[in-house]
Amino acid sequence: MKFREIEYKRVSIDPVPEELLLLERRLAEADSAEEFMAAFRELDKYKKELQTMSALVYIRHTIDTRDEYYRAEQDYYDQNMPALEDVFVRIGRSLLKSRFRDELESSIGSLALRNIELREKAMSPQIIEDMQLENALTTEYQALTASAKIMFEGKEVNLSQLAAYQESPSRDVREAAYRAEGSFYEQHKDRLDDIFARLVEVRTAMARKLGFNTYTEMAYCLRVRNCYGRAEIEAFREQVVAYVVPVVTEILRRRDARCGIEDAKYWDRKLMFADGNPEPKGTPETIFANGRKMYEALSDETGEFMDFMLHNDLFDVLSKAGKANGGYCIGLPGFDSPFIFANFNGTQDDVNVLTHECGHAFEAYISMRSMEYLDQTEFSSDVAEIHSMSMEFFTYPWMELFFETDTDKFYYNHLAEALLFWPYGSMVDHFQHIVYDEPQLTPKERDDRWKELEGMYRPDADFADLPHYHYGGMWQRQLHIYQYPFYYIDYCLAQYAAVCFWLTMTGDREAAWKTYLALVRKSGTKDYVTLLKEAGFATPFEARALEKITEETMRYLDTIEVNI
Ligand code: ZN
Repeated sequence: MKFREIEYKRVSIDPVPEELLLLERRLAEADSAEEFMAAFRELDKYKKELQTMSALVYIRHTIDTRDEYYRAEQDYYDQNMPALEDVFVRIGRSLLKSRFRDELESSIGSLALRNIELREKAMSPQIIEDMQLENALTTEYQALTASAKIMFEGKEVNLSQLAAYQESPSRDVREAAYRAEGSFYEQHKDRLDDIFARLVEVRTAMARKLGFNTYTEMAYCLRVRNCYGRAEIEAFREQVVAYVVPVVTEILRRRDARCGIEDAKYWDRKLMFADGNPEPKGTPETIFANGRKMYEALSDETGEFMDFMLHNDLFDVLSKAGKANGGYCIGLPGFDSPFIFANFNGTQDDVNVLTHECGHAFEAYISMRSMEYLDQTEFSSDVAEIHSMSMEFFTYPWMELFFETDTDKFYYNHLAEALLFWPYGSMVDHFQHIVYDEPQLTPKERDDRWKELEGMYRPDADFADLPHYHYGGMWQRQLHIYQYPFYYIDYCLAQYAAVCFWLTMTGDREAAWKTYLALVRKSGTKDYVTLLKEAGFATPFEARALEKITEETMRYLDTIEVNI
């Protein structure tokens, strides 16, 4: 069915619907496995309908934020969903205790049950008020950073517009852009410190109410860490320091030589080439048309996926008046359809939507068709990001369509960025472990800890006298630290798997694609470690796993460096 023909019907959730409470009772009081599973299937159907309709509202609201009807519908779900979440958690708890748990497990798999169990540990009616406070604080952070109006080169810009200048081929412009950004954070430092102090306080309080020692333990449940723990993540970060950090220093040293940079400073960090980083050629329309060609050629499965997406109008990627900012991929489970929203502007971000977001959409397209229950299509993000980050590599052979004569520069930049990301991502993760282990740290002590970590993970970064950044305040610009605690390491772990796929495809592309497809198909039933093992990859927690792939990546960078 074409997207515009999908009929919207509000799923009435205020008050909590009788239908759902009845299902809760039927699940709790079922006399036989048949009765129990029949009620579970109805619950699944209900959740799919709710998710489909609320996604439909979200999409139509973001496509035209001026539309009063969908704006009001969006408010309706925003306001009433928390009460419903509470019922879902209660139901989850009773599923775990049910005498028909074995029957349920044979239908949805043991992983889905393990995940329900982990989420349940981190949820209780006791902490609802704390959660509301946490939400209010993260909203305050977002509003503060979104309100930034910075005068730069005679124009008023926001923080994301300012970021574009940080990659300028002109060194003076780059420096000025970092100074302007640092000054914004410095100006709001007291408020940023206060918001974070209150976040640490409320998160620690929630964790203690639920019987955890620290918020870190609670966050591991919320992030559904179902196959590794703190020790494994520490082992990963140690490998980043041992094997990746020296290679990053070498990449930056060569970059300095190539670009004629002497005495590199932090404001040189994002620049890889003297004449600027590669941008795609052509208009947003031609970029989109090339994306279509790319997926038709990549494999039968992606060709089918692309036909389906286009035939049903499941892309809205060109900019137009009234559209919200940003880009996302969202699922409409009732129609087995993913949907991709973006604002193409002719930059590398457009290509990223076509590779990364389409990777998420491709996975959704496959799993909605192969998995019966919603619980089997909700993954932890360490797994979900494998689908998208690996697709960035599987689409490599078609990058010439976008970057033409700059294609080798694109490859170099993409891989170098992958290596540069690991130390930064690990530092963000390490910092969060410290602040929640020691919740009593003062703002000054937090900055000091960040500065120490900089010395460990990015010893080559020279902040000179950049406002806010020279004394260790840079963590405050990382949204995830405020809003999505402990999320960041998931990107690092997923990227590890993606680079493993890339290395496999440099040897045998066909085999790599088959392995990827297999991983996508079983993502709802296997955890991160098992998926990697079954793909034939070492886990990133095993000794020297990162050493090997870092060396091989560096060897490849050497071979293309001569062309750029
Ligand atoms: Zn993603």
